[in-house]
Amino acid sequence: MPVTGLPPYDDANIFARILRGEIPARKVHEDAHALAFHDINPQAPVHVLVIPKGRYVSVADFAATASAEEIAGFWRAVAKVAKDLGLEGPGYRVLMNMGRDGGQEVPHFHVHIFGGRPLGRMVA
Ligand code: IMP
Repeated sequence: MPVTGLPPYDDANIFARILRGEIPARKVHEDAHALAFHDINPQAPVHVLVIPKGRYVSVADFAATASAEEIAGFWRAVAKVAKDLGLEGPGYRVLMNMGRDGGQEVPHFHVHIFGGRPLGRMVA
């Protein structure tokens, strides 16, 4: 369940549909806790999304309600995906958008992995 003050999980969201196999995705990794696939509108030469398999609206929901095993498994998957894509040496960026002001469009928790070119200094 989402934490108080956050919207309830919407099973019709696009990432839920990808998890159920209802719409295709260019998958790069899948394990018990996480699914990773290429972003449909890449903002860098490598732009991959990693999502947990559980029903979490946002990072706040994930941090508050996922099990320690899910949280560890998810973050290990993030690092593995980046490494397997050849990004560990040159480096990469991991980004989360949270809620309205954070610009989160899809209400299923996800992180963006960007890489493949120098990304410059991060500014809000
Ligand atoms: P957010 O703004 O952090 O919620 O980012 C959502 C991301 O999902 C955006 O970068 C979109 O381009 C991406 N996206 C939306 N629909 C799809 C899809 O069907 N496949 C892959 N990526 C998608």
